[in-house]
Amino acid sequence: MIATSPSAKPAATTFESLNPASGAVVGTFPIDGPDEVAAAVGRAREAARWWSALDFAERRRRLAGFRRVVAQRIDELSELVHRENGKPDADAFLETMLALHHVAWAARNARRVLSPRRVRPGMLAANHAAQVVYDPLGVIGVIGPWNYPVYTPMGSIGYALAAGNAVVFKPSEHTPAVGVWLAERFAEAIPEQPLVQVVTGLGATGEALCRSGVDKLAFTGSARTGRRVMAACADNLTPVLLELGGKDAMIVDDDADVEAAAQAAVWGAIQNAGQTCIAVERVYATDAVYDRFTARVVELAGRVRSGDGAQADIGPITMPGQIDVIRSHLDDAFARGARALVGGPEAVHPPYVDPVVLVDVPADALIMRDETFGPALPVVRVRDADEAVRLANDTRYGLASAVFGKRRATDIARRLRAGMTSINAMITFAAVPGLPFGGVGDSGFGRIHGDEGLREFSRTKAITRQRYALPVELLSFERPARMVDLLKKVTRLVHGRG
Ligand code: NAD
Repeated sequence: MIATSPSAKPAATTFESLNPASGAVVGTFPIDGPDEVAAAVGRAREAARWWSALDFAERRRRLAGFRRVVAQRIDELSELVHRENGKPDADAFLETMLALHHVAWAARNARRVLSPRRVRPGMLAANHAAQVVYDPLGVIGVIGPWNYPVYTPMGSIGYALAAGNAVVFKPSEHTPAVGVWLAERFAEAIPEQPLVQVVTGLGATGEALCRSGVDKLAFTGSARTGRRVMAACADNLTPVLLELGGKDAMIVDDDADVEAAAQAAVWGAIQNAGQTCIAVERVYATDAVYDRFTARVVELAGRVRSGDGAQADIGPITMPGQIDVIRSHLDDAFARGARALVGGPEAVHPPYVDPVVLVDVPADALIMRDETFGPALPVVRVRDADEAVRLANDTRYGLASAVFGKRRATDIARRLRAGMTSINAMITFAAVPGLPFGGVGDSGFGRIHGDEGLREFSRTKAITRQRYALPVELLSFERPARMVDLLKKVTRLVHGRG
């Protein structure tokens, strides 16, 4: 197996990635097993040694080279994402633009975030200097999903590289061509070592990567697979970063700009055909705005067109199996008395699903509890913002959320149990590279992006250095007994008051 060219890998078995709109074959790729994965990790170890020995400026310069080659061929990448994932070209472009924005930030800020940091030694070690240093971990395994095949894995890859690591990337079996394309651009921009290698295959290839002895495994995908990843990583005590699914809520409060909220809800729920981890999957609108809000949502969602052509707002459902999940959520909602104000059961016409806006959905319906990952939006009437917060937090997930309102908006945002919240806008946090991205509960743990995202791919190490010796040494068998007596007095004085 070589680093980036799928055709050159000797493999007994292969799989095809298909264009979800037409069913045409986009590419044929080897199913890499434990041996190929181990070989890639072995090469990555070499690459990591070389890369970590470069200084921040050198790494930044080379990552700028990667951004340059991607930017020069951005239309080619957008077309490939469109073909393999199904999303419109413009959406494919936007996710790549965002990914480049993040790589630039990570490379620019790595020195600030990861340089040694002095720490006050405190009273007990006043004669020492103390510092924290951040070392690269070594080789990072990255397993990615298909819904944002550029932006999502690059959130781990870009930050891992900026922190001085090498990467072995296992793209989704639905978007391997995009993964290989990215690795080829890394090889072009940074030819010295195979800094980013791709292994291709199905779940078993991902599992082999989990068990390969990488220094950290960054997984983005469903909560169900996340549990398996964590179990597989447990054997070697390989640390994991889990970016999982969500059931994100939007709250529309009494004093919200209803027009802006409706625009955001429709776009947030339906863009990329709802196949977004941070999509709006539920809306809670207060009594004061519910009617106006719902009417406008219905108007806007009714205009959205699915298809493969240039006029389409949303593409097909990328993963055929997801259509069954969407259908089952809709069927369950209708069986429980939900009404569709836009779309209905006929909205599901594989490979497409048209927008569906639902009302009167009971709180225990599947579509209110499990990730739908389709262009369906349940809108719920609530008495007030307090009820909205209670219902929004009644979920095992906790990825993102949105609040539309004025007076109480920040307070509501603070009370939402989620990793990220945007106020009076949709998913803005994803475009702010300085902000950490990640969830709580079944949405995972650990953070990509921001200072936290750089430290996530670093080994934190504490160092003290004695600056001068004290006349008596506390941590010694030779210490005089009176020293402990003195320390007891000091301890009572310092901690025993108040
Ligand atoms: P998935 O869990 O089915 O697959 C993700 C990846 O895991 C794929 O590459 C797959 O081959 C691999 N895999 C499957 N079984 C494995 C195993 N046993 N061991 C190791 N790897 C294995 O998810 P998906 O359908 O590709 O992606 C959609 C999911 O991803 C949704 O739940 C979505 O919300 C989530 N997601 C989360 C984020 C985030 O940042 N939190 C971003 C995008 C997508």
